[in-house]
Amino acid sequence: MITKIIALLIGREVIKYKRAQARTRKLARQEAQSRMNEFVSIASHELKTPLTSIKGNIQLMGRRLKSSADGEKNHSVETQQLLAEARELLERTDQQVGRLTHLVNSLLETSRINANTMDLLFEVCDLNGLLHEVIKDPRHVSAKRTIQVTIPEDKSIIVMADIGRIKQVIIHYLSNAHKYSAIECPIRIHLREEGSTAYVSVSDEGPGIPANEHKNIWERFYRVPSIEVLNSSEVGLGLGLHISRTIVEQHHGRVGVQSIPGRGTTFWFTLPLLQEK
Ligand code: ADP
Repeated sequence: MITKIIALLIGREVIKYKRAQARTRKLARQEAQSRMNEFVSIASHELKTPLTSIKGNIQLMGRRLKSSADGEKNHSVETQQLLAEARELLERTDQQVGRLTHLVNSLLETSRINANTMDLLFEVCDLNGLLHEVIKDPRHVSAKRTIQVTIPEDKSIIVMADIGRIKQVIIHYLSNAHKYSAIECPIRIHLREEGSTAYVSVSDEGPGIPANEHKNIWERFYRVPSIEVLNSSEVGLGLGLHISRTIVEQHHGRVGVQSIPGRGTTFWFTLPLLQEK
């Protein structure tokens, strides 16, 4: 009898000890995560300041080079050649700084998501207009790419949204479609009402994503190893879809992907329609 009681007591102590250990491990994980966030946030803020100043100097230099090019006929052949080389180098530097800025911004965004400090400014948003604005902007759509758009002509689809953030999601879907599909293949964009929600989708004819990866691609830093970048010099960190999902969910919307390997991919999101009162 006594041995049974002792065994029970030991068993209880072992369980208590294991629970305490699990709690300590969980706290340590949370602490490490929060330190990591803090580090990423500080590092990206600190990196942004010199990057902005480098960008400013590049623009200034570009303007100087342009004005000296205007009077180029007076320069010797060597000087003209030197100026042309300087302009080309500056342009390449500008592109690299752009890539770096994009990376730093993505890191900053994830640290905001983790710290729950992504502030949204809700306004009335006309999705028809917003989509047209994105598609017409040559910064978001290459001139070589065919974009087929299906947007209701006679009906405005209105939601309450942080316009900049929703634009960011559309641009990200579009830039992925461009990045991962051959340039001669069209990208299709759809906007429609579905019940009480607005539905936006971007479809490409790229390699498609295997079904077992559909869940993973929304995770932070996840990239599908077998999928190649076809049209972009941008380095992907596997953050864009994670940021997009967070933005849409903070608008009480949903995101999703439909894809069959070899037959392209459709990324979509929905947002609640603005209810007329
Ligand atoms: P990344 O910056 O790496 O593109 P994302 O979070 O946007 O990060 O995407 C995560 C991964 O999902 C990508 O690395 C790629 O493997 C896959 N992916 C995203 N969009 C597409 C697409 N349109 N077609 C095929 N694969 C895609």
